[in-house]
Amino acid sequence: MPGYRPHPFHWVPADGRRHASTDEHPPGASIYPDGTETSTLCQRTVKADTSDTAWLWETCLDCNSAAHELAGLPPLAGAR
Ligand SMILES: [Zn+2]
Repeated sequence: MPGYRPHPFHWVPADGRRHASTDEHPPGASIYPDGTETSTLCQRTVKADTSDTAWLWETCLDCNSAAHELAGLPPLAGAR
């Protein structure tokens, strides 16, 4: 078993949204380097974008609810 991991996924900005992925980061990296092909929780394959503005993109709703499930949290309530 690998070491302790607080959550079994990482966030990856790509394609105009912040997605979440269960892919491992490359050895020694704490992010997915720019252009890394990453499988997201919303069942897409995207290329990681590490530009300065990428972290300001909106969270992908499908990834967000999948990430909440993986983290053992209740899914987000619907918008009111
Ligand atoms: Zn997504």
